[in-house]
Parts: sequence; structure tokens; C-alpha cells
Amino acid sequence: MEKKGSILMGKYELGRLLGQGTFAKVYYGILLKTGQSVAIKVIDKDKVLKAGLTNQTKREISVMGMVKHNNVMELYEVMATKTKIYFVMEYAFPPLEKVFLAKGRLKEDSARKYFQQLITAVDICHSRGVYHRDLKPENLLLDENGDLKVSDFGLSALTESKHQDGLLHTVCGTPAYIAPEVISRRGYDGSKADIWSCGVILFVMLAGHLPFKDSNLAEMYRKISLAEYKCPNWFPPEVRKLLSWILDPNPYTRISIAKIMKNSWFRKGLKSRQARTKAEDPEKVPLDFGSISDSSRNNIPTDMKLEVAKPTNLNAFDIISHSTGFDLSGLFVSNDQKDEVQFTSTKPVSAIISKLEDVARNLKLKVKKKDQGWFMRLEGTNKGINGILSIDVEIFEITSSFHLVEVKKSSGDSVYYQKMLRQDIRPALREIVWAWLGELQQDQKEI
Ligand code: ATP
Ligand code: MG
Repeated sequence: MEKKGSILMGKYELGRLLGQGTFAKVYYGILLKTGQSVAIKVIDKDKVLKAGLTNQTKREISVMGMVKHNNVMELYEVMATKTKIYFVMEYAFPPLEKVFLAKGRLKEDSARKYFQQLITAVDICHSRGVYHRDLKPENLLLDENGDLKVSDFGLSALTESKHQDGLLHTVCGTPAYIAPEVISRRGYDGSKADIWSCGVILFVMLAGHLPFKDSNLAEMYRKISLAEYKCPNWFPPEVRKLLSWILDPNPYTRISIAKIMKNSWFRKGLKSRQARTKAEDPEKVPLDFGSISDSSRNNIPTDMKLEVAKPTNLNAFDIISHSTGFDLSGLFVSNDQKDEVQFTSTKPVSAIISKLEDVARNLKLKVKKKDQGWFMRLEGTNKGINGILSIDVEIFEITSSFHLVEVKKSSGDSVYYQKMLRQDIRPALREIVWAWLGELQQDQKEI
């Protein structure tokens, strides 16, 4: 239990408990330096240990720290102690769910506005290779302008286990928003599963009740898997049609986001509202890491506003990417130089490979390639005290235009390698690097 008024990592003052989910408690917090409000999600490491995170999900969390969009809850920073993980996020107002409770159902125009914002947020994250997998009203919050903020993007990875171990119905309430292919535990496409959930959310906003409901869970599953629902008589025909394309039990024929965005009901009022939001919303300054708003860095073909914060201090994204099963204990010994570093790149993989080959040539390192260069080993020729220097480089595709590259010493002298990394490799890679994932800060104490 976090104590009110205690100071987290010397940076944030913890305030009242805002809410509690399956794995996490969310507290109000204040960034001491500026007085800015934040929300701090505290997760017990033990509780997520079982989840056994995949590399893909760890990468998604890293990438989330770089996506900045008006309708995506911003993840400012991730911090960790031996037992807990802290996600510092933008502070927002109660979930949209509470708006439903107060109003019963929403007017068509309001429902459409939230739906547009939801789809926009989902589209942006999908274009970065990040899926939500747990879209539901509890994860839709509102900012002070009444705009939607989708929270927990990429974080659901942490709670994936609840889908896998049958906890679904006991712990997290209802599977009402979950796509049939996820329930039936077939391998699924995160993008299509998110689209289904958006359809359920649209239905709930307009109807004031769930499309698939039954006190008997098996019966509820059956209804979901057959998409058996009934639209209330006030649903306009265009909405019925759109819903029938979204709530298609077959993920392969289910409508895509691109098609939803072209739908005439969806598009209504879109242009003017976007123009207005842009004008009213002066550029936001990200919290603590150096801010860069440079649209030329990303080539996402969209007219939506997208800012990308280039992190200079992503310490615990790094922690998460590096620590198998969240065993962070190894990271608290004092080693301020790591033998493994990662960077992201918006260059095509061929450009990344040829740059790495250049660097190796200049440093007189031999290159051994595997998997057409997705894996490379750079080897020195001189046998030092600790053997021949050998550096492994692995490229991961996050999306076709966004890659994560891991550079790791696999043998040889650390001091020599660190010097080469600092003085030669890092500067030489500058033109292909979008962001280095930051170094771990050492003085993190538990509160
Ligand atoms: P689940 O455990 O299934 O993810 P959940 O989304 O409700 O459910 P949490 O994400 O842990 O669980 O959030 C708990 C509650 O904290 C939310 O329902 C919401 O009321 C509040 N909350 C979450 N994020 C924020 C935020 N950024 N600003 C303000 N309140 C928040
Ligand atoms: Mg949540």
C-alpha cells in the first residue's frame, strides 16, 4: 500500500487512490518540479511475474513511451523498484463508463465523436505495432476538454495472463468487450480484436447497455461467437450496417480501420472538429524527457495529429525490455555501463544493415550475417585479456517502417567495448538512429 504524501523516486508526490484494477492501483500524483498532475499506476511485480512477457509485448511498452497523440493517454515514464513497477501517465478524468452511468446512453453526435477519437487512437497505435487487447470503457478516460484518452495501450500485455489462465470471468468481470477469437484462445490478430472491442463500445454508447449479455457465461460466449445481438429501434440504419461489419465473428472478413475511417456515418463532422481541436490545442510539452515534435521523422500516412516525443531518459522502458520475467534485482547493482544497448530506427532494414556493415569495416571488425542480416555478429581480430571482442546485433521489425536494434557484447573486454561503443559506434550510427533507449538510473530507492 502506497502512503499518501510519500515521495516517489524523489520526483513525484503520491496523492489519493484514483482507482483499482485487476493488477494495479492507480494514484493521483504531482510532479514536484512543476506541480503538474499525473496518474501513477503501481503494479506489483509478483502479480505480473506469471504473465511471462514475450519480447513483442516488452517492445510494445517501449514504443508506447514514444507515441504522443491527443487521444492516447501519454505514458511519461516507467520506473521500477525491486518489487514494483510504476507507470507515470497523464492524469485524466473518470472513465467514460461513469458518463454512461450518469446519462444512460449518449446522443448520436457525442457517441460518434468519442468513436472517432477512439478509432483515431487505435489507428495511431496499430501503425506503431502496438495493440490494446483490452479496450473497454474503464480504459477510456476524458481530458479537461472532454476529449477521449485511451489508456493502457500496450500495457494490457502485462495483464495478458488473465486471458490465458481462465481468470477472465472471475477477476476482471465480464468478457463482454472481447472478440470471439480471443475468447476461444485461437491465435489472434491484435488489430482485428481491437476493432471488435471498438464495435462493442460504440454499441454501448448508443444503446446504454451491452450487445452481448447473459447471466450464464457459456451462453454469453455463444452469443459473442455468433455475434448474436439486437440493435435498439433508435439505431440509425447506417449505424446498424457499420456495426454488422465490425461485429463480424470472422476476424478475416471483419472491417479494417481504414474502411471504418472511410464510412460516411463515421466521417460526419470529422474535418471541422479536427481543425478546431488543432487550433485550440497548443503544442503540448512532454513531462521530463526532451521534447521533439518532428513529423518528418515518421512517415505515417495520416492527417491525424501525431507528435512523437523523443525520449532522452527512458530508463525503465529499458528495464522492462531487459529483464526477463521482470526480475529486476540484477539491475540494482552498480553498473553504470551496460553491455547491451538498444535503439529504434525509422530507416528500412536494408539501410540499417548497410550502415552497420560500414561501421564494422571502419572499425576493422569482421561481419558474420544470419537471416539476411537481421542478425549480425561483429568480431575483432585481436585476442584481448578476455578473449576476442564479439558484438551481436539483432534487428526486430516493429512495423515495416519502424525497427528496434539491439547491440550486445557477447564476448571480449567490457572496458574496450564500452569505449568503442561510446566513441565510435554510437556517433557513427547517428544518421540511422531515431532514439536510443536510455540508461538506467541507479539511485532508485523503494518507498
Ligand atoms: P483492468 O485491471 O482490467 O485493466 P482497469 O482499467 O479499471 O481494469 P486500471 O488500469 O488499473 O484498471 O485502472 C484503475 C482505475 O484507475 C481506472 O478504472 C480509472 O478509474 C483510474 N485511472 C486509470 N488511469 C488513470 C489516469 N491516467 N488518470 C486518472 N485516473 C485513472
Ligand atoms: Mg485501465
